[in-house]
Amino acid sequence: MRWLALAAAAVDREADRLTELDSAIGDADHGANLKRGFAAVTAVLEKEPPPTPGAVLLAAGRQLISTVGGASGPLYGTLLRRTGKELGDEPAVSRARFAEALDAGVSAVARLGGAQAGDKTMLDALLPAAEALGESFGAAREAAERGALATVPLRARKGRASYLGERSVGHQDPGATSSALLMAALDEAAA
Ligand code: ADP
Ligand code: MG
Repeated sequence: MRWLALAAAAVDREADRLTELDSAIGDADHGANLKRGFAAVTAVLEKEPPPTPGAVLLAAGRQLISTVGGASGPLYGTLLRRTGKELGDEPAVSRARFAEALDAGVSAVARLGGAQAGDKTMLDALLPAAEALGESFGAAREAAERGALATVPLRARKGRASYLGERSVGHQDPGATSSALLMAALDEAAA
């Protein structure tokens, strides 16, 4: 799936920025975590290409869960696995179907992490993106980017950044930033 190859390239390119954001309100490993995870995803998909988009996402999600140590591994792994499961074994996927599936994936992330909109997490990019995907890939990308920027004034209520309380205010959330990269990669893949 072109999406994941482009996502891996974006994560690789932006790893230092993600780690920098995580050094401000976390433990400075978000870029390295995702770089390792997406490199493993790329390797497994190249070695044994799964037959359908759903199967690709299931394999990728499994790989993220097993290779990324931080909170983001299980969360992104769940996002991809749940989205893939929703797609089932359909050989081709329309944007409308993908939007439905991604919506289920994002809900699974919210359940797993117990976070909601405004908690300064990846969900602040993923929730608006999944909704905007009903309209277009470009709208999803823009919604994710806006959502990531909008985390700056928020106080973190979930994850490591929440330990900082008020001191988390004024920094962009690393996970929301990487989610915006994933949505930009999806828009590129669709083009
Ligand atoms: P860790 O926090 O374990 O070091 P990472 O640095 O890889 O993991 O990822 C941090 C990101 O994970 C945060 O910026 C945030 O977006 C996301 N995150 C953390 N906890 C949660 C949660 N409970 N729900 C949703 N997202 C979360
Ligand atoms: Mg971290």
